[in-house]
Amino acid sequence: MTAACPINMAIVGVGKIARDQHLPALARDKDFRLVAAASPHGKVDDVANFTDIGTLLEAVPEIEAVSLCMPPQFRHDAARAAILAGKHVFMEKPPGATVSEVEQLKTLAAKKGVTLFASWHSRYAPAVEATRTFLGSARIRSAAINWKEDVRRWHPNQDWIWQPGGFGVFDPGINALSIATYIFPPMFITAATLDFPENRGAPIAAQMTFRTDDGIPVAVDFDWRQTGPQSWDILAETDNGSMVLSGGGTTLTVDGKVEQEGPETEYPMLYRRFAELVHGRKSDVDLAPLQHVADAFMLGKRNVVEAFFD
Ligand code: NAP
Repeated sequence: MTAACPINMAIVGVGKIARDQHLPALARDKDFRLVAAASPHGKVDDVANFTDIGTLLEAVPEIEAVSLCMPPQFRHDAARAAILAGKHVFMEKPPGATVSEVEQLKTLAAKKGVTLFASWHSRYAPAVEATRTFLGSARIRSAAINWKEDVRRWHPNQDWIWQPGGFGVFDPGINALSIATYIFPPMFITAATLDFPENRGAPIAAQMTFRTDDGIPVAVDFDWRQTGPQSWDILAETDNGSMVLSGGGTTLTVDGKVEQEGPETEYPMLYRRFAELVHGRKSDVDLAPLQHVADAFMLGKRNVVEAFFD
């Protein structure tokens, strides 16, 4: 499987992220050829379309890999069917609705000898590597994460996101945790309060405290009620200066000076990584961000707040 013999791909779950990112990234990557799609309603031009993955797998046996872009509640069954059919699997973040289901997929993929890639797109943001390098040679004193956005602007009409397993504010928040688990020493949650609107099955905000292995406090604030400027920031006080990774991983500043920024190329990089994994018959399934979300739901105090209407 090289550019001369691209990997035959299918997209499963044709919604916003499939259209905004996966289809353009695949169209530009010579290591892949999109041959089919499956979604209850959505369709992709110029490929075979089906309403479910089972029919797709039967009808198009030449498919070698699938990208799963549907909400997390529906991921496991689709991934299992694809792995059992001997296909490589790329899973959008978050890789599933529970930690155990993804662990089982990992075991199954290893048994079947196929690649399983649990992708964390925010780790590929342009200033994340530079931040990791900066923090790797600094002594961190304290850290904070502020991930605050307007849910009406970014998630209109997404009912699944408010259902159990849709994660609520942890849907964007897990992006912050995917960066934090890459740039900070290992950490664990020590306290959490989750704000659930009285009419919804998932939280609209969460305030949490984490602590790293060596005792550094990390204050985490997720909120979906922020109008006006949006905040996707990770901050740290260190002996080498005050660092801010802002814009969801786009810009690194230290003591107010921009150290790294660049154009966003997350999804092209994710597909490069997937091609590498498929060619090397390897998997990449880091469950740390998902585990933190599970721990927040396990440890967190549930606070009922006013009803939320779109
Ligand atoms: P979305 O616009 O609601 O799209 C999800 C699509 O999944 C729906 O259009 C639906 O297709 C399809 N679907 C539902 N059940 C399915 C099933 N059983 N099998 C196949 N397809 C099914 O949501 P989204 O924003 O694309 O998010 C999808 C996933 O990507 C989420 O896990 C989210 O966290 C992740 N993600 C989203 C973004 C973003 O910016 N939006 C960024 C990164 C990651 P039909 O329309 O055909 O019914």
